[in-house]
Amino acid sequence: MSDVYAEPATGADPTDPATLARYTTLRLGGAAGRLDTATSADEIVQKVQDAESRDEPVLVLAGGSNVVIGDQGFAGTVVLIRSRGLRVVAEDAETVTVRVEAGEPWDDLVAATVERGWSGLECLSGIPGSAGATPIQNVGAYGQEVAETITGVEAYDRTHGKVVRIDAADCGFAYRGSIFKYSDRWVVLSVDFRLARSPLSGPVRYVELARALGVEVGDRVPLIDARATVLRLRAGKGMVLDADDPDTRSVGSFFTNPVLEREAYELLRERAAGLGEPPAWPGAGDVVKVSAAWLIDKAGFGKGYVGPEGVAISSKHTLALTNRSGTASTAALVALAREIRDGVHDRFGVPLHPEPVLINCTI
Ligand SMILES: Cc1cc2nc3c(=O)[nH]c(=O)nc-3n(C[C@H](O)[C@H](O)[C@H](O)COP(=O)(O)OP(=O)(O)OC[C@H]3O[C@@H](n4cnc5c(N)ncnc54)[C@H](O)[C@@H]3O)c2cc1C
Repeated sequence: MSDVYAEPATGADPTDPATLARYTTLRLGGAAGRLDTATSADEIVQKVQDAESRDEPVLVLAGGSNVVIGDQGFAGTVVLIRSRGLRVVAEDAETVTVRVEAGEPWDDLVAATVERGWSGLECLSGIPGSAGATPIQNVGAYGQEVAETITGVEAYDRTHGKVVRIDAADCGFAYRGSIFKYSDRWVVLSVDFRLARSPLSGPVRYVELARALGVEVGDRVPLIDARATVLRLRAGKGMVLDADDPDTRSVGSFFTNPVLEREAYELLRERAAGLGEPPAWPGAGDVVKVSAAWLIDKAGFGKGYVGPEGVAISSKHTLALTNRSGTASTAALVALAREIRDGVHDRFGVPLHPEPVLINCTI
């Protein structure tokens, strides 16, 4: 999966209007003022400091799988995170703590942990992007999220100009969020994950995964089976990058699942009368997390729904907005996102929020 990253062509002109599209999975985004590649933690810090000394804004970009960059691009320095490597920094009879450089391709890491019999990341197989970006939105899928295994993060604090270690408890992990998301302050240099030494997965929590594995929720399965099954389920939904499949020219889920107070949820149920029960899961406290995919579908935006310039909802997953034609603009993609958001609000009164980070564009 290491080829998820486009490597900069030697001598390429960053001010070419197609530059940033090369580095995003949507294949969207305009020119960069300047493009610097950093292949180690020291280099990342150096490149960021260099840009600051030139008084330029900085955009940290790794796999480009969770960003929507505007057509006008980014008029500052884009630092491409391309550091690699992992090493064990602590271990005991039951666990191993592995320190992973920010630019390590995420799925390479997951594959390596499964191979070594380290349990805790297996359900996060097939997610594109870098290890260093996983704390940014507390990456999660199929009943696992990185907040469960991250023990700490090493980051460059741009406010104080120094490298710091941040314990997991101070990362503010939440559903698709953390202190790092929407903040320019922190540049993640490495991430520590504490994993269990076990040939078996953690208890399977996700009903669809349990069903596909032929086990009950709560059962454990061989790591390799968990990984293979997650990869198969994801591929069926266009959620594993595939250069030949335009449905994967996306940022994965475009909207987060709305988290509603109980009262708002009851109102939704009233407005959804006749459409069946809106799929929902209990959240922390008296809140309910509702399926954004269901809301979008029932508001009239089904799989394959086409917007301007050939942008479209994925034909395999209602939550993924795709640059299906491969020639669309960011303006077209955000127009589709707006239409869906407004349509869902008009029909159900529920606000949808984008999951990716929007840069020089807005919905
Ligand atoms: C097909 C597909 C499926 C997906 N499935 C899932 C899924 O199941 N679950 C899920 O949670 N996400 C999913 N995603 C979203 C995405 O893959 C993850 O959020 C991933 O962690 C982003 O990594 P990246 O390296 O591509 O980040 P980028 O897109 O490069 O960056 C995302 C944001 O993080 C910041 N950032 C990146 N690296 C650093 C760093 N080292 N320090 C500070 N800031 C940084 C960027 O500035 C930007 O704001 C999916 C995306 C796609 C395309």
